Order: sequence, then C-alpha cells, then structure tokens
Amino acid sequence: MHTGGEGALARFEIVDDPDDLGRLLGVILGLPPLPATEADLAAMRPLRTALTRIAYGLAEGSAPIPIDPPHPDDIATVNAAAAVPPLVPALRPDGGTTIVAPTTAAALSSVARDAVDLFSSALARRIRVCAAENCGLLLLDTSRPGQRRWCSMETCGNRAKVRAHRSRS
Ligand SMILES: [Zn+2]
Repeated sequence: MHTGGEGALARFEIVDDPDDLGRLLGVILGLPPLPATEADLAAMRPLRTALTRIAYGLAEGSAPIPIDPPHPDDIATVNAAAAVPPLVPALRPDGGTTIVAPTTAAALSSVARDAVDLFSSALARRIRVCAAENCGLLLLDTSRPGQRRWCSMETCGNRAKVRAHRSRS
C-alpha cells in the first residue's frame, strides 16, 4: 500500500509504469521482476486504493486520508481481485519453496487474499497509523505486548524519543 495512491497519496507514487509494478512484486516475492502489462497496472491501482482505504479505516491513530467504514465498492474490489487464481507455491528439492510461473495477476490475487485474511482476523485490530507527526504510514503490530506505535524504531521511533528528551531537558 505504501507505494503511492490517489489524492494526497499521489505524491508518494513509485509505480509509474508496468515495469515498476513487475519489479516491485519481484522484490516482495524474492523473485526476478514479474512480467507486467498496462492491464496489470490498471488492476493494481483500484486494488491498492481499496486496501489503503479499508486499512486506514480499521487503523488506530490519525490517518492522512479521510476515514470511513469499509465502503461496499472497496470490499467488492478486494473480493474481485481475490477471486482470480493466486500464486502457486511449490516445494523445491532442497526443502525450500518457489512459485510456479508467477504472473502479476496472480500476485495481485495473493495480495487481495492476504488482505481478506488480515482484515477478517483478530490482527485487524492491530493495524495502526504511525504515531510520529508527519509520517502517516500504516503498520501492523504483531508484537506480543501490542504496544508498537511507530512504523520504524530506527526512524520515527528515534525522532520521537529525541524530541521527548529535548522537551524534558
Ligand atoms: Zn512513521
């Protein structure tokens, strides 16, 4: 979701063409870039928008885009993407796994299916917006105590601690 979007999120866009999309999915999957077409890009954008809106709607914290309950159109978008055949995992002789003939359409389906699982699970209540000012990134707090506040301890967490220290001293 943090690859850009519509409206206020457009300035963060990093997926400008099909090659960007194929490269991004390859990085996520640990594979060479996936072949991607304009149609794949056109399928990714509404899915990303729907996932972003649903996630910010579920998140605690202040979101950079308006929050509403999940819109039926967004739910329909996610469900339609999830209905496409997903990536197919396979065992390798060395005991690892690989993905059989990965396509961008299948990868987007897997993303949508992961979202169906997440948004319907108890972990959905652990979706947060980073507590740092001027950040706004989403995070999924999978820590046991469930106290995570920042997208990254190295960046936002540290800045917040330095600021708190300065205001104390
Ligand atoms: Zn942050």
